Amino acid sequence: MKRELVIEPCTGVSFFVKRGGIVIVEDMNGGQVADFFAEAADYNEEFLSTGVTIDVNGSIVLKKGDTIYSDRYRPMFTVIADDVGEHDILHPCCRREMYDFLYKDGAGHPNCLDNINHALKKHHCEIRPVNLFMNTRIAADGSIEVLPPKSLPGDRVTLRAETDAFVAISACSAHESQCNDGECSSIKVYVED
Ligand SMILES: [Zn+2]
Repeated sequence: MKRELVIEPCTGVSFFVKRGGIVIVEDMNGGQVADFFAEAADYNEEFLSTGVTIDVNGSIVLKKGDTIYSDRYRPMFTVIADDVGEHDILHPCCRREMYDFLYKDGAGHPNCLDNINHALKKHHCEIRPVNLFMNTRIAADGSIEVLPPKSLPGDRVTLRAETDAFVAISACSAHESQCNDGECSSIKVYVED
């Protein structure tokens, strides 16, 4: 079954994808981060883990050919194509408290934690997603800096599902930093399974 979803700025969606299915995430206008999270469909408490992904891949960057793992060390997705080659697997979802802490504007601020929880009808206390298109520069001394995404309009990442999964994606709502190049925009998703 083929589906196309448009994620409006600062909102989230969820959908089901079968094992072997393809999920394409497109940055429609360029410069926009998409927080990508998933839960295994066959076991309700199993979810995407960037920590395990870092552990298994032995790397803090995600690139074409890499697998994204669950907290139970099972493959969930494989990156099979990537127009950008610059993503983040270090940062948690933005949330009200983050906006309060950094910018004093958390009240009523849309955020990826709420977007993904609402889309999945869950209450994860913290979500550590794959931040597609997020451009985090990691210096030799371990310091990090978030720069504008390198993604151009229409750039895509293609993932193959390695298990049946409920996926949730949020078009990140941080306009205060360079994370989304100062302006929040839409994400398009193509699903085929
Ligand atoms: Zn966000």
